[in-house]
Amino acid sequence: TEQYQDISRIKSAELFEKAKQFFPGGVNSPVRAFKSVYGTPLFIERGDKAHLWDADGNEFIDYCCSWGPLILGHNNADIRNAVAGQLDKGLSFGAPTQLENELAELILSNNTYIEKIRFVSSGTEAVMSAIRLARGYTKRDKIVKFEGCYHGHSDSLLVKAGSGLVTFGETSSAGVPKAFADETIVIALNDTQALEEVFATFKDQIAAVIIEGVPANNGLLIQDHDYINFLRRITQEQGTLLIFDEVITGFRLGFQGAAHYYGVQPDIITYGKIIGGGMPVGAYGASHELMGYISPDGGVYQAGTLSGNPVAMAAGIATLRQLAAPGFYEKQEKTTAAFVDTLRSYIAEKEYEVKIFTIGSIFWFAFTAQESIKRADEIDPQSMEKYKVMHRSLLNQGIYFGPSGYEVGFISSAHTETDLEQTIIAIKAALDIVFQ
Ligand code: PMP
Repeated sequence: TEQYQDISRIKSAELFEKAKQFFPGGVNSPVRAFKSVYGTPLFIERGDKAHLWDADGNEFIDYCCSWGPLILGHNNADIRNAVAGQLDKGLSFGAPTQLENELAELILSNNTYIEKIRFVSSGTEAVMSAIRLARGYTKRDKIVKFEGCYHGHSDSLLVKAGSGLVTFGETSSAGVPKAFADETIVIALNDTQALEEVFATFKDQIAAVIIEGVPANNGLLIQDHDYINFLRRITQEQGTLLIFDEVITGFRLGFQGAAHYYGVQPDIITYGKIIGGGMPVGAYGASHELMGYISPDGGVYQAGTLSGNPVAMAAGIATLRQLAAPGFYEKQEKTTAAFVDTLRSYIAEKEYEVKIFTIGSIFWFAFTAQESIKRADEIDPQSMEKYKVMHRSLLNQGIYFGPSGYEVGFISSAHTETDLEQTIIAIKAALDIVFQ
């Protein structure tokens, strides 16, 4: 039957062979190379609403959504019109435009957690700049990050845990000087003792603790309110800034993201993905006082030729206007909960050893018997073999999930009842194959 029959990848395979001559691994971002799943990567030709078409003409219902930005689906009419309208006026000026004011006002007037914002061009840049601000403000050098949180590919953050409860990190990429990694301390999530030890060991040396609003780059590691409150309390006591990296959760977990979900006031918040509606945008924001440290007001330098790019701003404005409409998030969360509940019933009925973790319109399939997973080291790498089987079967049935079992899925407002029903049938069939 169709879930066993592999889709045609003739054109994609040809394009991939050619791409390998041009790009390392044939791609411009590593996970796209399909190293962790079956087959060659699919070259995408176009998207419309919740659907994608690849170079071979295969059609998919998309749950990757460009890794999160496409909360309104592909080819959203308002975003397309806003971008097209800007094309007539110009692509880039390297000078201020009214569009930047408009996007900033839309964000700041609907968000009580930041008072000023700076636009950049990617999540990586947003986080890198937030770290520099924290160091500039506190006049301290060390930062604490958590194992399993991804914050982009800047040097200070490409660091993984060393051995032992509290250690200096080790670089997780060649080319990152050891001296940089020495300034980054990596500890496990959901471990209050580890953080207390860090502060005891490195008294008055820690500029910032950074955490993803909800860690969603290494599975979906949903943290308790108590733990997040603890992070806020201990950082405040220690004169250390708390940074929420909301590149995924910003404008996804409600308009005000994880800060509002947890009811916690971070010192700096970073955004990306959704804020640009599919165009390259990132941002970081904080209080007037903190943002006063940023150049040209203050001594923390940060700049960008394409920062606040007018086309990207236009896309962002058109996106956030739709998200600010009353009931937008409630509807999306209800849709996601119903989708997950239906699948959970099937899993329970069949007694399959797989869990679906979910928050807002994010979901993650974990092949585990555990009722919750809060730390990266609770994920069994062997379980990824099962994800591979599921992923292959889903593609064969026209369902596009991210090409790694560590990646979460996203539901957009463009996913229709029919899309979701079709997806449920496909997932059931895929799980039957995984557990046959
Ligand atoms: N922070 C988080 C939480 C992310 O999820 C990502 C990207 N997945 C980044 C930072 C880096 O963003 P970008 O890929 O836009 O540089």
